[in-house]
Amino acid sequence: MTLSPSCSVPVRHDTVQLAHGGGGRLMRELIEQVFAAAFDNPVLASRHDSAVVPVEAARLAMTTDSYVVDPLFFPGGDIGKLAVFGTVNDLCMAGAEPAYLTAGFVLEEGLPIDSLVRIVRSMAEACAECGVAIVTGDTKVVDHGRGHGVYLNTAGVGWVRDRVDVGPARIQPGDVVLLSGDVGRHGIAVMSVRSGLALGTELESDCAPLVPPVRALIDDGLDVHCLRDLTRGGLASALAELALDAGVDVEIDEARVPVHDAVRGASELLGLDPLYIANEGRMVVVVAPKDAARALGVLRARPVSSGAVRIGSVSKKQGAQGRVSARGALGNLRPLSLQSGEQLPRIC
Ligand code: MG
Repeated sequence: MTLSPSCSVPVRHDTVQLAHGGGGRLMRELIEQVFAAAFDNPVLASRHDSAVVPVEAARLAMTTDSYVVDPLFFPGGDIGKLAVFGTVNDLCMAGAEPAYLTAGFVLEEGLPIDSLVRIVRSMAEACAECGVAIVTGDTKVVDHGRGHGVYLNTAGVGWVRDRVDVGPARIQPGDVVLLSGDVGRHGIAVMSVRSGLALGTELESDCAPLVPPVRALIDDGLDVHCLRDLTRGGLASALAELALDAGVDVEIDEARVPVHDAVRGASELLGLDPLYIANEGRMVVVVAPKDAARALGVLRARPVSSGAVRIGSVSKKQGAQGRVSARGALGNLRPLSLQSGEQLPRIC
């Protein structure tokens, strides 16, 4: 599954050519020498029109996402890593064990082959880290000036075990809300490159797979009601969506939400609210109160979620209206709601 370190790229051109998009010999070279070399696995090696895979459960989780992040490479990650972890994490949020991915590439004519190889290699490493395989894919090339280097789409399939039932419909009044770590690093890491902002410290994206903590929560049989990864729109938007979908009110204690100093500083400079900034390796866990302490222990025992904290709970109030409130240091409550526009575009 991984590209050998000595991998050379004998593709005849230094950049992606439009002729690569038209099928034929050049496209075959690109597929064989770049994609197949990196993603090698028996299903992909069958070179069939569809991937045929064995199924290991009665229920499948399926998801798809497109990635348009600008820039393609940022501190702590790149579009390839994002495209694997993002889709794998969405499968995890259904309590699924991720198994297979598809990958669709839209390449802009003139993209350096070296950049493509770097992205593809990063995807292969990310797949190995998550224990998933890219079993089928597609490549299209668009005219120079009509793309942004690379757009990526990944779809994913995972297995959901019999007794597992995780989703917004299961959220109950009294449930405890856990957060898996500090917020806002992905958004600020991307923005710092885009705006040339010097943060005085090398702040890296939190881009990471949530497979280990989710697998552990499921394996331990904890009564996890809902999981949600904090991507675009950050913690505030994720909670606002869950509260609306589940028809409950949620209250969090803002002082308990960990925010890196560099994220706080950059947010002030850019006029952003860290609770609304995108993450790519963070989630909230909504869990029955009886299992909250154990769930927190499970999260803290895995590196990706070692900074997990209890941030709030689902309100027991009658007549809940899907509201989320954050309690400030002085006891004041401020509402967290879905924002009408993107705070940061092209972030994932
Ligand atoms: Mg998600």
